[in-house]
Amino acid sequence: MRLDNFDLHNHSTASDGVLTPTQLVELGARNGVQAIALTDHDTVDGVAEAAEAARRLGVRLVTGVEISVSWGSTTVHVVGLGFDAGNEALVAGLKSIRDGRLGRAQRMAAALEALGIPGTLEAALGYAGSPNQLSRMHFARHLVETGRVRDTQRAFDKYLGSGKPAYVPHEWARLEDAMAWILGAGGTPVLAHPGRYGLQPLGRATLLEDFKRLGGEAIEVVTGSHRPEEYATWRRVAEEYGFLASRGSDFHGPGESPAQPGRLPPLPASLEPVWTRWAH
Ligand code: AMP
Ligand code: MN
Ligand code: MN
Ligand code: MN
Repeated sequence: MRLDNFDLHNHSTASDGVLTPTQLVELGARNGVQAIALTDHDTVDGVAEAAEAARRLGVRLVTGVEISVSWGSTTVHVVGLGFDAGNEALVAGLKSIRDGRLGRAQRMAAALEALGIPGTLEAALGYAGSPNQLSRMHFARHLVETGRVRDTQRAFDKYLGSGKPAYVPHEWARLEDAMAWILGAGGTPVLAHPGRYGLQPLGRATLLEDFKRLGGEAIEVVTGSHRPEEYATWRRVAEEYGFLASRGSDFHGPGESPAQPGRLPPLPASLEPVWTRWAH
C-alpha cells in the first residue's frame, strides 16, 4: 500500500477545466494531496498561479502540461511533468499547437450548424478563456446547458467524439516534437491514459515502442480516464516495458469528472511511481 497522495493530472480554467488554478489546488489540498500537477492542454499559463496557491497551502506543485499529439491518424496525449515552465522552445511549441484551435472550432461549429445546432462557436467562446483554448469540452458544456444532451460524456458519444458527426480531424504536434519539448525543458514525458486510444494490440505496441524510443519514461496506470478494471492491464504493460507509473485524476470539474483530485486508488505496489524521479 502506497500512502503517497500524488495527483499528477488535472485541468483548470487555463484550458478546459472549470476551477481556477487556485481553486483546483485548494480542492486537492482539502482532499489530502501531498503533490499536485496542473496539466492543462497545450499550455502552462496556469502554472504560476497554481504554484502560488500550493506554496500558501503547503502542497507540492509539480509543473505540468498535457500535449495534444497526432500519431498517424490517432490523437494521443503526452503529459510532461517537472520541467522548467519558462523554457522558450516548450512555450513556443505549445503556442504553435494552441494557435490551431480556433480554426478547428470554427469547423466544428459549422458541422454542428449543419446538424441544426447554430451558434455554438459563440457559446463555446463564452466558456473558454480565449480562442486558442477552445476545446471540445467547451462545446460539450454548451450542448449540456441547452438540453441537447444529458451530460458531457453523451455530447462526445453523440456529436464530438472521434468519428461522430461534428468531429473534425486535426493536426496536433508530432510525437517527436512533443517529446523533445518536454525533455529539452528538463521534464519527464508520461503517456496519458493509454487505454483511451482504442488501439488494437499491434498499434498499441507500436505506440509504446515509439514513445519509449523517443525518451518516454512513464505511463498513466491509475487515472480517472481508465475504468478501474483497466488498471491491471496497464500495470502489466508498465512491467513489461519497464515504464514508471503515474497516477492522476484527469479532473476537469466537480460533477463532471469521474475522479476528484487526490481521490484515486494507490498505484499497484509492484510499480515504481514516476515521482521517484523528483525524490522526496
Ligand atoms: P480537445 O483537446 O479539444 O480535442 O478536447 C479533448 C478533451 O475533451 C479531453 O481532454 C477531455 O476533456 C474531453 N474528452 C475527449 N473525449 C472524451 C470522451 N469520449 N468523453 C468525455 N470527454 C472527452
Ligand atoms: Mn480535457
Ligand atoms: Mn487527455
Ligand atoms: Mn487531461
